[in-house]
Amino acid sequence: MSAKYKQICYSCRKNYVEITSRQKYAICYDCQKPEMDKEIKNKKMKKLFDIPEEFYKENSFLRNIKVAYNRYEKLSEKQVEAFKNTVEKLNKDKNIK
Ligand SMILES: [Zn+2]
Repeated sequence: MSAKYKQICYSCRKNYVEITSRQKYAICYDCQKPEMDKEIKNKKMKKLFDIPEEFYKENSFLRNIKVAYNRYEKLSEKQVEAFKNTVEKLNKDKNIK
């Protein structure tokens, strides 16, 4: 797994965001919220994105995928897989705690 570190949100320059070294931009939950709140009509995608809100709060990767979907209304197989894997990992972490 890649290392995680905190970076200041490049949009509001107020909140810190936890990102992995692979990510270029850090945008906080507050700044991405308006773009995440769009209604998703595709049933399959709606189900995919139906995860606890706290997952979106703590994971910028999940936020980016949802924002990307809302913008372009499509995702690649790889993005869907990565999304599912990340959710699974978060679920496991929760169970351990
Ligand atoms: Zn922000």
